Amino acid sequence: MVASETCAFDIIGAEYVRSIEPGEIVIIDERGIESRRLPKARRALCVFEYIYFSRPDSIIFGEKVDKVRRHLGKKLAEEAPCDADIVIAIPDSANTAALGYAGASGLRFEIGLIRNHYVGRTFIVPHQRERDLDVKVKFNPVSGVLRGKRVVVVEDSIVRGTTLKQLVRLIRSAGAKEIHVRVSSPPVISPCFYGIDMASRGELIAASHRVKEIADHIGADSLAYISVKGMLSVVPAGKSQCAACFTGRYPTDIPADFTKGQFDNVCGAIID
Ligand code: SF4
Repeated sequence: MVASETCAFDIIGAEYVRSIEPGEIVIIDERGIESRRLPKARRALCVFEYIYFSRPDSIIFGEKVDKVRRHLGKKLAEEAPCDADIVIAIPDSANTAALGYAGASGLRFEIGLIRNHYVGRTFIVPHQRERDLDVKVKFNPVSGVLRGKRVVVVEDSIVRGTTLKQLVRLIRSAGAKEIHVRVSSPPVISPCFYGIDMASRGELIAASHRVKEIADHIGADSLAYISVKGMLSVVPAGKSQCAACFTGRYPTDIPADFTKGQFDNVCGAIID
């Protein structure tokens, strides 16, 4: 059995043996299993797998996602502490980082937002109007937890900022006294040309706005991100990771036409 995430093996009681390496092709046919590898090339593993894409109960690039995400939250708390009453997560993808933040800061972790699990990930919906509707049916605030509190809201990433803006409004409408957003990845400033359809450069809010401007845009009392250095210090094999969407430094040459923007979003797979 081959799967994109190891959590699939747990469900059927299969044993995780190893990962298919970058540049490796595994052929499974009636003759058996054959592995073919490209000549050795530089590795550039996608750091976003640890931040957002993969489930926390998976093992990615040989490390438990849950463990890495908690460390990201802990590092974020060290770099961006906050005088607040409680920590909540934007569920579900920021849950583990929020637990890491709460553990390191000594603040109580609370469930402040309930997610409707029958609605998919917001960022993969192609049009803004559908994304807006998605957010409304996807999250509900827990006013008993939030009312009168100074709340740290941990989010895994901000791409366009539209979802977070609505969520901050939702949390405030439930009675939160202060909202301090902490992000367990650095500002996304460059598009992905390797198959993740996260947005064109013009749509990336951090590509053209300062942190304070983003805080004002989403309506937060404060906003802070983990640094690139901090992120790479807790991600396994940090130097072998691709972090181009946070640094603008791509691990391969990118044709000039792509970087000018004409080909943003052409790569098929899909991130808000
Ligand atoms: S640019 Fe970002 S999303 Fe794309 S592969 Fe690199 S780290 Fe992953």
